[in-house]
Amino acid sequence: VYEGILRRQSSRESAARTYARSLPIVPVRARGLTIEGADGRRYLDCLSGAGSLALGHNHPVVLEAIRSVLDSGAPLHVLDLATPVKDAFTDELFATLPRGLAASGRIQFCSPAGTDAVEAAFKLVRIATGRDGLLAFTGAYHGMTEGALAASGGAPGARVTRLPFPQDYRCPFGVGGENGARLAARWTESLLDDPKSGVRPPAGMIVEPVQGEGGVLPAPSGWLRRMRELTAERSIPLIADEVQTGVGRTGAFWAVGHSGIEPDVMVLSKAIGGSLPLAVIVYREALDAWQPGDHAGTFRGNQLAMAAGAATLRYVRENGLAGRAAALGGRMLDRLRRLAAEYDCIGEVRGAGLMIGIEFVEPEDGAGSAARAEWLAAAGDGAGPTARPESGGVPAPGARGGPAGGARPGTGRGPGADGPLPASPAR
Ligand code: PMP
Repeated sequence: VYEGILRRQSSRESAARTYARSLPIVPVRARGLTIEGADGRRYLDCLSGAGSLALGHNHPVVLEAIRSVLDSGAPLHVLDLATPVKDAFTDELFATLPRGLAASGRIQFCSPAGTDAVEAAFKLVRIATGRDGLLAFTGAYHGMTEGALAASGGAPGARVTRLPFPQDYRCPFGVGGENGARLAARWTESLLDDPKSGVRPPAGMIVEPVQGEGGVLPAPSGWLRRMRELTAERSIPLIADEVQTGVGRTGAFWAVGHSGIEPDVMVLSKAIGGSLPLAVIVYREALDAWQPGDHAGTFRGNQLAMAAGAATLRYVRENGLAGRAAALGGRMLDRLRRLAAEYDCIGEVRGAGLMIGIEFVEPEDGAGSAARAEWLAAAGDGAGPTARPESGGVPAPGARGGPAGGARPGTGRGPGADGPLPASPAR
């Protein structure tokens, strides 16, 4: 059965499929961190949780919330109509928001993917300001639809200006630390104030408080506060994309909480649906300039997702899980950084709360090394690693916005001896 499902699925699925190609797993049951395959093997799920499973798989409070909607006979398809389930979800969500948004913010339910909420945010600020251009950052990821993609890393879209996102390890200015963040802020300020830069005046600026897909890069708090000041002074709406960082994962309920800033628009998805599809934007009342029909979508009334999401938000809030993520994440960062000091193939360990990234590099030149990361992943697949990656021919870092390689500011270790690869974990 197992082989048959895998074979049939691979022969029919599009070439765009990603994980399914490399992971021969057919999940049939899941609980917490564990998924069980049709072959009876159990796996620690390090894949599904990237921001969408705040409570792991099938948490009892989530299942109970879904069951109670099903048992109540409530309609599952309601478009934009008000329902008690939607009301309860909105209450729960607003109870977690930064103060101003909680007090008088507006909510727009979107077709249930983060990328649609990003599109909604772009449309909203364009309508509200009457302007067109957007500011986004190197290494950003905002989704797969055309507008969101244009604001993501890689080639900027026609209406998007890309600004440097500060980072320590691969600082775009080669200095790292606070100086690098200050230079990045100054770069942005000069672009905003230069009449010839072509960015004036933009409709909005979008930022991830911790870049996820770009390589788990926490925005320095001081820099983020400066972005808030620069945009506020120029009446540019600031959009925080918290699709991946939300619901406690980074050690604060919303990652903007680390810097204390209040954005004008928050884009929320993934964990707010308690593992089911849900996406919304919340924004300042003053921006509520759009007309009926300006943003629609068949599935923005997903009752099961709202029930699962409300239960998740409540559980995380009442049980202080953001604080727990901060504490556990701190311990994990410490341990991983000790490993980084020992192994030259670990370039940097960074993160916020339990959103943590480890950058694998070639010790010779500091270039990011997908091969080493893949070797480590293979070490846990039960068969054990088959071969150490060769240093030669390793692709240069795929990370968008990275430097040319070579210099590794902030590590205090020059390129040099080939460090040992980590041993295969004991089985
Ligand atoms: N924004 C961010 C920060 C994300 O991490 C993602 C998804 N990884 C998206 C937007 C897009 O969300 P979705 O995949 O649900 O469209």
